[in-house]
Amino acid sequence: MKTDKSEPERKNLPASEPASVETAPVSNFIRDIVKDDLATNKWDGRVVTRFPPEPNGYLHIGHAKSICLNFGIAAEHNGTTHLRFDDTNPSKEDVEYTEAIKRDVRWLGFDWGDKLFHASDYFGKFYDFAVQLINDGKAYVDDLSADEIREHRGTLKDPGRESPHRNRPIAENLDLFHRMRAGEFPDGSRVLRAKIDMSSGNVNLRDPVIYRIKHEAHHMTGDQWCIYPMYDYAHCVSDSIERITHSICTLEFEDHRPLYDWYLDQLGVYHPQQIEFARLNLTYTLMSKRKLLALVEEGVVSGWDDPRMPTLAGLRRRGYTPESIRDFCERIGVAKRDSVVSVALLEHCLREDLNKRAPRVMAVLRPLRLVIDNYPEGQTEEFDAVNNPEDPSGGTRKIPFSRVIYIERDDFNETPPKGFFRLAPGKEVRLKHAYYVTCQNIVKDDKTGEVTEVHCTYDPESRGGGTPDGRVIKGTLHWVSAEHAIDAEVRLYDHLFAKEDPEEGEDFRQNLTPNSLETLTDCKVEPSLAKAAAGDRYQFLRHRYFCVDSGDSKPGHPVFNRTVSLRDTWAKVQKSQK
Ligand code: ATP
Ligand code: MG
Repeated sequence: MKTDKSEPERKNLPASEPASVETAPVSNFIRDIVKDDLATNKWDGRVVTRFPPEPNGYLHIGHAKSICLNFGIAAEHNGTTHLRFDDTNPSKEDVEYTEAIKRDVRWLGFDWGDKLFHASDYFGKFYDFAVQLINDGKAYVDDLSADEIREHRGTLKDPGRESPHRNRPIAENLDLFHRMRAGEFPDGSRVLRAKIDMSSGNVNLRDPVIYRIKHEAHHMTGDQWCIYPMYDYAHCVSDSIERITHSICTLEFEDHRPLYDWYLDQLGVYHPQQIEFARLNLTYTLMSKRKLLALVEEGVVSGWDDPRMPTLAGLRRRGYTPESIRDFCERIGVAKRDSVVSVALLEHCLREDLNKRAPRVMAVLRPLRLVIDNYPEGQTEEFDAVNNPEDPSGGTRKIPFSRVIYIERDDFNETPPKGFFRLAPGKEVRLKHAYYVTCQNIVKDDKTGEVTEVHCTYDPESRGGGTPDGRVIKGTLHWVSAEHAIDAEVRLYDHLFAKEDPEEGEDFRQNLTPNSLETLTDCKVEPSLAKAAAGDRYQFLRHRYFCVDSGDSKPGHPVFNRTVSLRDTWAKVQKSQK
């Protein structure tokens, strides 16, 4: 698997919530096609695209690429984008999914206005068009079973064989199709097929199935139908009905394009142009809806919005911003050739965005008590802290300080290795925003030998981070006042999959990271976080970005998800390449 680490020219979307196209977009072959079409007035100056999800799962980061492309290109030319539910398969679809899809498209910053459609809106039209094909001798009812049809289809090397029912008289086809619809036949007993070419080099043109019998209720049309159209047929006809101009889809549909064109040509109806682009693949990221559903159903994750999921709902809960995802989709560009993008780029886009907007706060994830023996008992003072040095309008807040504080367990080492500039016996460090402290002695647990408390003295002259003698202190620690701290839970995530290609090998489950979630239940965070609301994002000093969990957080006892850690592998790669 090749990792595409090239970074196309970047474009900043405005920090405002909805997506807009105020800056000139980077050109790509689809944008070029649309521009050329406008220049030649091919579609009367219209640009109408669509995003056509099947409501059989939640949207993921791959869909985001398609959404940004479809909505983006239309918006650039004052066009429109339809949100169309491709709901032709009643067995896998659910209203839970349609609602989630709408929420996620909106969250990403796009608006379909009144252009919300369902393929199922057109079931009547699909039927009428199928009758037209039969009348024109272009479709027939076949009694072969699914297995027999498969056998007759041939292979890439060998041509297919014609069904014995292929040359039925039109009247008989009409009668049988009518009775299929009327519910006279059981599932799988008959299908309607297009009469194209059983020896075509393109297997998709070997008399594809148009309709199948399925005695199943549909979430939109109830029991009105017991025959349902196949994707290839329903899709192009829907595009035609909606007068789409550019029907943008992923590369695997390239071989289906002749069929897309065949249906519309035979029907003699309005005919959009299908254009294929390479789907998004991301390292360490599973993108198949079917497999993501398996993770949900098997309880590997807590749901579609588990913060480790690549779904938009999962990314949102994890703390991703819509801006960072749109920025990512713009940076990866649009190509005709499949590649794999490093997930580090997605994380990098998020870091860049959060760096601008996330307030800096202090949180101690693995607390160790630190007592300042020469600090007056019962005294509290407050330090002013800048909320975000990157954001001049971000303001300041007060941080209380007292005799007992918590520091990070890792920030103390009884036998420090060379180059350890944090706290150790006899060593002095700076407490961020506050004072210099020097470690005088430690308290240990008798049984385990674990350090349970560090005793220090502070230098009152160092208030706010400096001394009259100007001595150099290398280590700066974050801390929270024990008396004022808020208890919190913090969830640390790793990639859900340990393999760059999660689908490598026999079963993707074997590639799961053994412990992709570590829960820390004894964290201490600064009191300003008492007002943190679900979805709020922060930079925990020296830990990077965290977000208040929208599922389990409670007032007074926040739960934080680690959004991204300190390691910016993308920036590192970029640096080493320079
Ligand atoms: P399936 O059809 O197997 O259920 P799907 O991922 O193709 O899964 P759809 O709901 O059909 O799901 O996808 C809606 C749109 O999103 C399609 O136009 C599809 O081409 C596009 N899309 C899906 N996955 C990706 C991806 N990884 N990168 C870019 N576009 C994608
Ligand atoms: Mg699909």
